[in-house]
Amino acid sequence: MKPCHSCQAVIDEYLLDKQLEPLRDLTVDDFNVCADCATIVADACVKCGSAVYVPRSESVTPDYCPACRADLIDRTGHDPGWNCDLTST
Ligand SMILES: [Zn+2]
Ligand SMILES: [Zn+2]
Repeated sequence: MKPCHSCQAVIDEYLLDKQLEPLRDLTVDDFNVCADCATIVADACVKCGSAVYVPRSESVTPDYCPACRADLIDRTGHDPGWNCDLTST
């Protein structure tokens, strides 16, 4: 059992797995936080319409799910961050 990086509680993989279900491509193995510390927002990805994961340090809901962010990094070679920049267009 791994401890949560954020609150040090033991991660309940069953609970976390249920919480991560709407996310593309991610499993409990990709997370070092417990279900309490992982915030998932359904249908929020601007690219694929899947759920996004809100990192603890972020106060805003990301525009990209982790899978789409990884796709963009693969395709463009640079990290778009969690949010698409709507103000610069
Ligand atoms: Zn935690
Ligand atoms: Zn997506």
